[in-house]
Amino acid sequence: MNVPLLDLKPQLATLRPQILEAVTRVIDSTGYILGPEVTTLEQNIARYCGADHGVGLSSGTDALLVALMSLDIGPDDLVLTTPYTFFATMGTILRVGAQPLFVDIEPESFNIDPEQMAEALAADRRNGSRVKAIIPVHLYGQCADMQRIMALATEYGVPVIEDAAQAIGAECPYEENGAVTWHRAGSMGLCGCFSFFPSKNLGGIGDGGMLTASDRQFAEIVRSNRNHGAEPKYYHSRVGGNFRLDPIQAAVLTVKLAHLDSWHAARRRNADRYRQLFGEAGLAGNEVTLPQAVHAGVQGAERHNHHIYNQFVILVPERDRLRQYLQEHSVGCEIYYPLCLHQQECLRSERYKRQSFPVAQQAAARSLALPIFPELTDEQLVYVVETIRKFYRAG
Ligand SMILES: *Cc1c(COP(=O)(O)O)cnc(C)c1O
Repeated sequence: MNVPLLDLKPQLATLRPQILEAVTRVIDSTGYILGPEVTTLEQNIARYCGADHGVGLSSGTDALLVALMSLDIGPDDLVLTTPYTFFATMGTILRVGAQPLFVDIEPESFNIDPEQMAEALAADRRNGSRVKAIIPVHLYGQCADMQRIMALATEYGVPVIEDAAQAIGAECPYEENGAVTWHRAGSMGLCGCFSFFPSKNLGGIGDGGMLTASDRQFAEIVRSNRNHGAEPKYYHSRVGGNFRLDPIQAAVLTVKLAHLDSWHAARRRNADRYRQLFGEAGLAGNEVTLPQAVHAGVQGAERHNHHIYNQFVILVPERDRLRQYLQEHSVGCEIYYPLCLHQQECLRSERYKRQSFPVAQQAAARSLALPIFPELTDEQLVYVVETIRKFYRAG
């Protein structure tokens, strides 16, 4: 049996006529820059995420970049973030000339640890308050502990840019006056940054991204910066760049958005099935540490974080050997991510190389993402777990 890590063909097969119709509509309109398709998607994504405004952008990376630019973050500034995420989270901080300040992650959620964040912010205040933004990442499709992160951000007066690239539609609980309310990724910080890279839960037929915000003024600065800061045309009070979302992508994404919740549900069903199968195989809690949707520290939350499983990531011993074994048995898998950001060669400063983030480094050494896409069959899920069982139990 063959189980790819991700197969986009079944999704395409069901939507092909509508996608072709959307692409044709844009081509025939001859309106190829921004326009009504982009505006429609912006409104729909903002509503879906629980934010007032959406700004269509060229990628998730550019959403992070334009957010930092719109906050005038630059040389001498620090941005507090996690060392265990896709490179773009740090790459954009470096691109604006600022430096990342890392704190370690929580072992259960793989997301930034608010306790260590509190210590880092207190230390930064003693050192002259150089932290100008916080970028929590909702890794693999699960929100970071936003209630505590937002409380710290308010206490220290620092804006929060949510890296929600993997987490469109993920929800987390807040407790206010004894009542629990649920909030979607991208609706809690100053802004949320989304990616429509084809492997995300909502993926385009190429690159694309979106920034959500409820602060009108900030959304307007981002909107201006995506178009060279021009206001009006050919008059530039800001520098900005070309960070515009392509209307062909917007038209295709509008078709797909209608199906997003059913895809999330199928991924969550697959995750539950994996839990059952790993349990039955006697691997869960032994060789295999399964991903957890955590309570995010909220008392009285009746349900766990609403995880949308962009990735289903297990922690295992002998990870590299297991990965090779799975590949030899036609099971797709991948390591997200094999190297922490503070260990990346592009960071020239020795200061970073001396740092140690044990939880993140342990995750980098032991994590392995398994196939979780919505259209997997039960036979395929059974085969994945059976192949892993054979690896650990047959010698
Ligand atoms: C995918 C991703 C990005 C970048 O998005 P692109 O659209 O590929 O530029 C940023 N951060 C995280 C956590 C991501 O997973």
